[in-house]
Amino acid sequence: MTADYHLHSCFSGDSETPTEEVVRSGLEKGLSLLCLTEHFDPDYPYADVCMDLDAPAYFAEARRLQALYESRIEIRVGAELGLQPRLGTFLDSWLERNMAEGLSFDFLIGSTHLVDGTDPYYPEFWNGREPEASVGRFLDITLENVRAFDCFDVYGHLDYIVRYIPDGERRFSYSSHRDQVDAILKLLIEKGKGIEINTGGWKAGLSEPNPCGEVLRRYRELGGEIITTGSDAHTPEYTGFRLEDAKEVLRSCGFRYFTIFRERKPEFIKL
Ligand SMILES: [Zn+2]
Ligand SMILES: [Zn+2]
Repeated sequence: MTADYHLHSCFSGDSETPTEEVVRSGLEKGLSLLCLTEHFDPDYPYADVCMDLDAPAYFAEARRLQALYESRIEIRVGAELGLQPRLGTFLDSWLERNMAEGLSFDFLIGSTHLVDGTDPYYPEFWNGREPEASVGRFLDITLENVRAFDCFDVYGHLDYIVRYIPDGERRFSYSSHRDQVDAILKLLIEKGKGIEINTGGWKAGLSEPNPCGEVLRRYRELGGEIITTGSDAHTPEYTGFRLEDAKEVLRSCGFRYFTIFRERKPEFIKL
């Protein structure tokens, strides 16, 4: 089975793909299961991108498509939550409010997109910043987020920031950030949380997915078992992108299973 557990459509502020096109592209790519994970990034500071999520409209469309495509592909409803230490209990309240309306997510990714209020995706982030120090700061914030939040199932693209380093080698150095990475992974494991292998790294031209093999292997060595596979596609041609390769990377890192979620509960599928 191949399952894409990281997908964006027009309910995400940075995608224009109609949700039905994501489903159709999943069918074309031979996926048997996909989980939509639209962005919800409260307090996202860029006025040109709205990272709010209209949960009622999103669930209505996802449920329409579930009914329509039921016999051909399974569709699950998730979200990618942008975590920032200063959000406090805002996300918990938002999830509770939705749940009270009958809008319960199957799966939640927690992600660091903002470093002290700025997204490294934007070139201006890098003005006057030294890459390795910025990676270190990104990891500090990620550790703070893992400590502060419980409202997620897996941590998204753990070395996201290296996708956007402007000059030089865009490669994550585990040896330069060993203590921070180990602290993050140990805490995730202790809290019963997983990580994902996100093939968006390959799409961005990196030689490895996010996170890189060394971090994946370390997670496994430390006893981590919960790992989802996702493309992070924002356009339909990338639905399912290189997920077979991702599974091969997981095998080579010592994993025997990958994970899918339904109603926030993990199921383990043989690799
Ligand atoms: Zn993300
Ligand atoms: Zn994403």
